[in-house]
Amino acid sequence: MTDFNGKTALVLGGSRGIGAAIVERLANDGASVTFTYAGSKDAASAVAEKTGATAVQADSKDRKAVAKVISDLPSLDILVINAGIAVMGDPLELDPDAIDEMIDINVRGPYHAAVDGARAMNDGGRIIVMGSVNGDRIPFPTATGYALTKSAMQGMVRGFARDFGHRNITVNAVQPGPVDTDMNPADGPLKDMMHSAMAIKRHAHASEVAGMVAYLASDEAGIVTGALHTIDGGFGA
Ligand code: NDP
Repeated sequence: MTDFNGKTALVLGGSRGIGAAIVERLANDGASVTFTYAGSKDAASAVAEKTGATAVQADSKDRKAVAKVISDLPSLDILVINAGIAVMGDPLELDPDAIDEMIDINVRGPYHAAVDGARAMNDGGRIIVMGSVNGDRIPFPTATGYALTKSAMQGMVRGFARDFGHRNITVNAVQPGPVDTDMNPADGPLKDMMHSAMAIKRHAHASEVAGMVAYLASDEAGIVTGALHTIDGGFGA
């Protein structure tokens, strides 16, 4: 168990999958949680009802919309930048606009959210970014653009850890392997290929990733910063 009583948290992309599990974990452990979503209003309402968190529609592509969510908060201790999409396919065939949109959501949005979050955040705060083991390794074709965005998160957390360390704000990336969500269902067509690369041959549960986020958000993790925390069943081993 972690204790977030008295803490305020913002989770970007909390309506489904890993983000919803993070909202649930932080709220269950006492945090006052706000989360954003892009289009899934019903899913967001269900998460809000289940957890007592506050749902706000704000597209991570829209820097000003996310900045407004942050500035509307009474205070901020924990920022989890989770929203992301995966555009996969033959790079010679993929729509370049779809790749640009992914870069906007997965890279441009997180950079500006981290800066705006740090500006608003109490000293001793936590910034946690959802990377991917594909930021380290990409052992199959069709995922170059996605890997590019997750590698970008690695440089980002290292840099921001230096920029914000004097305020005891920690900045870390969590790097999951396959996690059972809408993005990557455990019974999807790529499951056998993914599991063949793993030491523990199953998708992670979103709650397992949320547990790692909770540790990084906790007081206990105050000296952990600028680091990449892989949780991948040995996918990258
Ligand atoms: P899902 O597709 O299941 O959920 C994505 C969440 O992000 C939803 O809440 C969605 O909101 C939100 N989101 C997506 N785009 C935007 C946007 N433009 N603005 C605001 N919110 C947005 O994905 P996962 O839970 O699987 O993935 C979450 C993160 O984890 C991503 O960054 C992903 O890259 C990363 N990851 C996932 C892995 C996996 O195997 N599942 C492995 C490694 C990393 P809405 O419901 O409104 O669409």
